Amino acid sequence: MYELRGALPGVASLIFEKLFQGSSNDGQPKGCQQQPSAYWSLNMNDITNLKLADSGLLKTQAYVNGEWCDADDGATFDVTNPATGEVIATVPDMGATETRRAIEAADAAWPAWRAKTAKERAAILRKLYFLLMDNQEDLAQLLTAECGKPIFEGRGEIAYGASFIEWFGEEAKRAYGDVVPAPFNDRRIVVDKQPIGVCVAITPWNFPIAMVTRKVGPALAAGCPIILKPAEDTPLSALALVELANRAGVPAGVFSVITTSNGPRVGAEMTSNPIVRKLSFTGSTATGKILMRQCADTVKKLSLELGGNAPFIVFDDADIDAAVKGAIASKYRNTGQTCVCVNRFLVQDGVYDQFAEKLVAAVKAMKIGAGAQEGNDQGPLINTAGLSKVEDHIQDALSKGAVTATGGKRHALGGTYYEPTVLTGITTDMKIAREETFGPVSALFRFKTEAEAVAMANDTEFGLAAYFYTRDAARVWRVGAALEYGIVGINEGIISTEVAPFGGVKESGLGREGSRYGIEDYLEIKYMCMGGLNASE
Ligand code: NAP
Repeated sequence: MYELRGALPGVASLIFEKLFQGSSNDGQPKGCQQQPSAYWSLNMNDITNLKLADSGLLKTQAYVNGEWCDADDGATFDVTNPATGEVIATVPDMGATETRRAIEAADAAWPAWRAKTAKERAAILRKLYFLLMDNQEDLAQLLTAECGKPIFEGRGEIAYGASFIEWFGEEAKRAYGDVVPAPFNDRRIVVDKQPIGVCVAITPWNFPIAMVTRKVGPALAAGCPIILKPAEDTPLSALALVELANRAGVPAGVFSVITTSNGPRVGAEMTSNPIVRKLSFTGSTATGKILMRQCADTVKKLSLELGGNAPFIVFDDADIDAAVKGAIASKYRNTGQTCVCVNRFLVQDGVYDQFAEKLVAAVKAMKIGAGAQEGNDQGPLINTAGLSKVEDHIQDALSKGAVTATGGKRHALGGTYYEPTVLTGITTDMKIAREETFGPVSALFRFKTEAEAVAMANDTEFGLAAYFYTRDAARVWRVGAALEYGIVGINEGIISTEVAPFGGVKESGLGREGSRYGIEDYLEIKYMCMGGLNASE
């Protein structure tokens, strides 16, 4: 049986039920001795030995034009485990030259790949899907080791990531065109969909597999080759993916992976090279804007999945237990480091105290520790920059009148572990109201009327995900329509699935990933007008 927990809808209930079954709250993983002053006060033996059933999935070279290779100058960088600070592997530190080589190889491989029938491409993607699921445990261990999320979330991400490969393999066969009624009797108008050409992808560390397969799946399905630059912090999952793609029969040059510690250097080549027809990027809005500007000179098609500032509105008529369950699942998944994580809880006056009390109880029940150890709900933050941002937002909020209901400091485990936190008395002048915190911090605002809540929710340049809880059917439709967001969770805290369109409005991005719309970003529309078709002999 495949393990499907984690990223799928069941995660909310799983976490919630686990929390409310009263797991111990000593803040320590099993087998650890508390040493508050130590940087890494963990039992390393439990978590440092990465044992894969298939050791061939731990790759330490990049993959260009069907070959595993080093950087031209032999440079490398370390990949570390955020749970322990230890080096897991060393990978090539590539630059513009290797990137150009991968782009040229993709261009050469494109004609044969696009010439395959959709059914042939779908068969290869289906094989890749099964390879991903057959290796789910190894891939989850690898992913957890490099990004720190709890192992049950890692298993869920592998299943979620694989689902995009399966889905887009199926969609390849449904990239229909149109026959349009012509305004003249002697013409036929045919609309065809064709692969856009060589694609490049740049992805973040918070979903080392799923953010990659959301791009690689539709690109390959559409008949496009693709070159990926994974995040510096998490290249190992991407390298394991390309190894499995190779085993599934993806031809040389069609899918290459460039590893680098210098995103701007590789990004500059990807965005300026005229062979590249499309860039798909997931990451911060700031980086997205840089890449968008860089793509202007060669007018590349863009998909941008950028940052958010998600509101989570709890109305007086909400089911409060359901709202707390949704809040935990949405806010604390991956230590609060997802683009659709709640950033602002807007809670109506009548239920503010009740919601805060129940949320604090749920947060206090969470178990913190290394992701690789079964049973933990929250791992470390990805790196010290992430830790500093969380601390900065909390200090700013406290200096302006917020109150710590629970947490609010670094965890005794050391490193980049941070206590899951709830702050009350949040106001709009605080940083946490305007910027993505990307950490395990719930910030509770109070509101009085529905109109006030909607205005507060929309008062941001971002528009990725929003959530609200109510039992009033008329309000469901009213508020659902009024929220300026690409994704709205209504009485639901987990909204990600391969069958639905994922993406933002405003400065949260362009385009949609997943669903039947997701393949469109990798296709060009060609209109062909056939003339001289006289109606009579
Ligand atoms: P980031 O700093 O923008 O980095 C994302 C990727 O871009 C990484 O691979 C990074 O490389 C690379 N990069 C950075 N600067 C670059 C440049 N000038 N040229 C080319 N590549 C460059 O974002 P992050 O901190 O890793 O990820 C968190 C952000 O992603 C959050 O804002 C989150 O909301 C957003 N996100 C959005 C979605 C969505 O679907 N909308 C999903 C997940 C995450 P290095 O790793 O080497 O820095």
